[in-house]
Amino acid sequence: MKREESSKLFDKAKTLFPGGVNSPVRAFKSVGGSPIFFESGKGAILKDVDGNEFIDFCCSYGPLILGHANDKVVENVQKTVARGTSFGAPTKEENELADTILSNHRYIERIRFVNSGTEAAMSAIRLARGYTGKNKIIKFEGCYHGHVDSLLVKAGSGLATLGTSSSAGVPEDTVKDTIVLPLNNKEAVEEAVKKYKGEIAAIALEPIPANNGLLIQGKEYLQFLRDVCDREGILLFFDEVISGFRVGFEGAAGYYDIQPDLIAFGKIIGGGLPVGAYAASEKVMSSVSPEGPVYQAGTLSGNPVAMSAGIAQIKECLKPGFYTELAEKTDKFCSSIESYAKEKGYDFTMPHIGSIFWLAFSNEAIKSADAIPQESGDHFKKLHAILLDNGVHLGPSGFEVGFVSEAHSNDELEKAASEIKKALDQLFS
Ligand code: PMP
Repeated sequence: MKREESSKLFDKAKTLFPGGVNSPVRAFKSVGGSPIFFESGKGAILKDVDGNEFIDFCCSYGPLILGHANDKVVENVQKTVARGTSFGAPTKEENELADTILSNHRYIERIRFVNSGTEAAMSAIRLARGYTGKNKIIKFEGCYHGHVDSLLVKAGSGLATLGTSSSAGVPEDTVKDTIVLPLNNKEAVEEAVKKYKGEIAAIALEPIPANNGLLIQGKEYLQFLRDVCDREGILLFFDEVISGFRVGFEGAAGYYDIQPDLIAFGKIIGGGLPVGAYAASEKVMSSVSPEGPVYQAGTLSGNPVAMSAGIAQIKECLKPGFYTELAEKTDKFCSSIESYAKEKGYDFTMPHIGSIFWLAFSNEAIKSADAIPQESGDHFKKLHAILLDNGVHLGPSGFEVGFVSEAHSNDELEKAASEIKKALDQLFS
């Protein structure tokens, strides 16, 4: 496969950006080789600058639930952008996106738009602290909440260790109130809430953890967290930047029917443009500025162009049968590969929920980051390279999940499944 143009562009990019990229995973560090520069996308197909085509399962890490360059999204953006890009004042597009979301989502009453998932999580944490008057936050190993200083924390050893920062530039003082616990471990939670009784503002998690592989939790565990929060006066914060509008319009809250106190959104509600949001009950959100004392602002927040992309996209998601069809398609795709791997005796499964899937080099259900087999990284690296050479594009890290969009046709899914099966043969032979 020709890669000359991508290589040339990456050489230039390395003289412009740290590591040649504007977000680290794009640099192909964990899979080796040089990143591919894309020229265009339509539906499930991506085209690179060398003219190669790929069936895409990265889908920009989740926002593109309708696939690339969906006609309705593009049209709505074009219509709006011709009237101006940003006014720094309220617009009807903000009302329309918020109204479409709130009137179809039973778990939230008020929303505030921001520009990224990171901003959404950061603002939600500030709100949790401001609302409760408490400082400590419980987060879980394997859950990512963007590059928010206080949440960039590695798990320490022991059950209820306070965090130590996992990035240079994040002072230990900033993470001293972050408690990192293993997922799917009730004792660890009970121990922490006992040890820090009355000091914890929120338990924060991705209810469908999808940033360290796909670590699907049981409903019973999520309900346990809800019950602990109720008992201890702690807010339950679901980071639904990936799961929101993905496993159903009401995200994981609706999927498991668990009422969180705060939700962060991103990705899908922006249709591929920069948008995030945080939302909660009217009571909790009334603490946000200018109504309440918790300050949060943004020059480009709710800008009409991004809102228009989101409006067009989520209206499509509301069509009857949208999520059922997407989930069925994804299940068929994953199950076909899984059955093949099982027949051949490979240590490989494809955990999936809604239209999110993961390539797991294990036959066991993996529910916590420490249960991921050591050799997974190496296996993924080889599989990723084979698949790219054969026109299947996955995010360049074994910890990233894949996404199926509405635009993926049965033919495209069958072709991709066949390439994945062949790649598994090569890997395990
Ligand atoms: N939370 C979760 C669960 C995410 O998956 C991500 C990004 N993948 C973020 C927060 C941060 O979002 P962004 O990259 O838009 O800042």
